[in-house]
Amino acid sequence: TLSHRITHITAGGPDGWDLFRKARRMVAAGRPVIELTIGEHDIRTDPEILQAMDRAARGGHTGYAAVPGTPELRAEIARRLTERTGVPTGPENVLVVPGGQAGLFAAHHATCDEGDGALYIDPYYATYPGTVRAVGAVALPVAARAEDGFLPRTEDIEAEIAGFDGRVRSLLINTPNNPTGAVYPREALEALGALCAEHGLWLISDEVYDTQLWDGAHLSPRALPGLADRTLVVGSLSKSHAMTGSRVGWVAGPEDVIAAMENLATHTTYGIPGFVQDAGLHALQLGAEFEAKVAAPFRRRREIAARLVAEQEVVRALPMQGAMYAMLDIRATGLSGEAFADALLEQEGIAVMPGESFGRAAAGHVRVALTVEDDRFEEALSRLLRFAAAKS
Ligand code: PLP
Repeated sequence: TLSHRITHITAGGPDGWDLFRKARRMVAAGRPVIELTIGEHDIRTDPEILQAMDRAARGGHTGYAAVPGTPELRAEIARRLTERTGVPTGPENVLVVPGGQAGLFAAHHATCDEGDGALYIDPYYATYPGTVRAVGAVALPVAARAEDGFLPRTEDIEAEIAGFDGRVRSLLINTPNNPTGAVYPREALEALGALCAEHGLWLISDEVYDTQLWDGAHLSPRALPGLADRTLVVGSLSKSHAMTGSRVGWVAGPEDVIAAMENLATHTTYGIPGFVQDAGLHALQLGAEFEAKVAAPFRRRREIAARLVAEQEVVRALPMQGAMYAMLDIRATGLSGEAFADALLEQEGIAVMPGESFGRAAAGHVRVALTVEDDRFEEALSRLLRFAAAKS
């Protein structure tokens, strides 16, 4: 028999990705489907980054690489964080891991013992509950509300802590947010930071969308007074540099936590390939201008979405502040997100994610990924809105 821990990662329930799989089956069967489901760019990794990877591999960086990350890559990530948070950050504060997902796992593994509670905000990125369970902790989702723009209320988090029969160790947040497209303002981060301080919680901050903000600059809770010592930042090149397949991510935080997680890496992943790290270093050295270039198509499509939504009254859009998604409120159609997405796929050949795939809080919503070229995106969204109008 297998361990309880591994068989309970997804707790046996449906994972909410049925619609995604159905769309893929339709595509495989040759049916025309416009897929606005997963968060992956419609461009591939830039050739210049691939050349750096090729140079490094041919140059011999193909043996075991430094487990916590090469000194150069750790230093570059630290430099980027120092520049963007104002908090002095050194290589010893950074662990390189195989993607943000591995960072989420390491951060929970480092902070939660078996049976401890780990909080996160619903709607959530699909893997959050499973990541918490994978380390043996108890998943404690806290529902945010559509009328609050899906920002969590501290009293709801307090109630979850009070209701849990055990120790709560961490709060996971994600800004800019997948799936809602919300960006947490400074006051929200301050309030959550104060709550973490009061209850002795680690704040795990998933910032993999830190280059996808449509107004203003990214604010990390690590930058706020008193929070650097209790915040673990999870970052990644997947979204910022269109490098989803390269699996370059990091966790940044206090030196002792990073050292403990390095020990975990030694006994699990043994780091990531040296030539991939060199490519990641090259990618980061391309600077903010390159990051803006990668984000530009999403920025344009967000404008298209905002314009089309403003032209009608049935579907309402949550503020599209960041990340490569638009969350649409389709409650006026009387349909659930699931029923809406299913009918839209069957009747219009357009695939979007039901809000219910991301927890309970986004029922009656659908998430639209801004991930097909502008004219097809505009056509798909126009059809979605006409479809909604016909149902209402
Ligand atoms: N966190 C969020 C909110 C995401 O949306 C994703 C990917 O979609 C990840 C983490 C994981 O990204 P990766 O492991 O590719 O860095």
